[in-house]
Amino acid sequence: MDLGIKGRRGLVCAASKGLGRGCAEALAEAGVDLVINSRTEAEITQTAHEIADRYGVSVTPVAADITTDEGRAKVLAAVGQADILVTNAGGPPPGNWTDWNRDDFIRAIDANMLSAIALMQALVPGMIERGWGRVVNITSASVRSPVSVLGLSNTARAGLTGFVAGMSRQVAPHGVVVNNILPGIHATDRADSLDRGVASQKGIDMDEARHRREATIPARTYGRPEDFGATCAFLCSEQARFIIGQNILLDGGALNATI
Ligand code: NAP
Repeated sequence: MDLGIKGRRGLVCAASKGLGRGCAEALAEAGVDLVINSRTEAEITQTAHEIADRYGVSVTPVAADITTDEGRAKVLAAVGQADILVTNAGGPPPGNWTDWNRDDFIRAIDANMLSAIALMQALVPGMIERGWGRVVNITSASVRSPVSVLGLSNTARAGLTGFVAGMSRQVAPHGVVVNNILPGIHATDRADSLDRGVASQKGIDMDEARHRREATIPARTYGRPEDFGATCAFLCSEQARFIIGQNILLDGGALNATI
């Protein structure tokens, strides 16, 4: 399918690996020129080269922490204008509800709510002016079904979801389409670190931890970054123009709900 976005310009945050990289690859395959970001210079540079070589688009790497004002300023200076924005950042650490203090909440809200909002505030006005734009926020299945040990994530991402629900409808009349994708368990480093937590908590090895978590998913497997990326690219396509303010759950059926 031709997604109709060849030659568009996109920013994908937190994209040297994992879900962000999956999105960057799928957009590059659709012909989108990219700026991609993550904190580790060598890794983001390497990823940019690999994607540019594979798909023949321009890919500019920017090493910066997207959760800070300075990091975002550096990324936005490299982007200029963008037609497509994919927001993403690392997830907060697990813990117990009694553990977290105000600073922990502020850090999580900065990373997983306010940085996405700041990026939309920076780039969506230009999309409105030009009458075309696409935004995908990578949030989490925890927005629909809380993961108790990820209380910081549950909290911050719920805030972003509420913001997008209203804002997406305000910008839709101007050709700007904003949606969220909610990953369930995907095979990335983040999933490995959560598997490690389960393994040490239950005194089992990593394979057994993964096997037990896979058994909770009706699809009986973790999602793949490339499948996730394909969904992201579709939400950035010309054809997605009528999908507004939605929360697309990619979880292999793990949430047991009728709708
Ligand atoms: P991942 O494989 O660990 O990759 C994270 C990527 O983000 C890396 O490129 C990392 O590079 C970059 N990054 C992290 N913090 C950053 C920051 N402050 N500024 C810029 N780049 C940053 O993680 P993932 O599995 O793709 O997860 C992506 C998001 O989805 C996370 O918020 C995660 O909580 C959420 N999520 C994931 C799953 C899952 O099963 N994988 C499920 C639900 C939700 P550097 O470290 O070099 O910066």
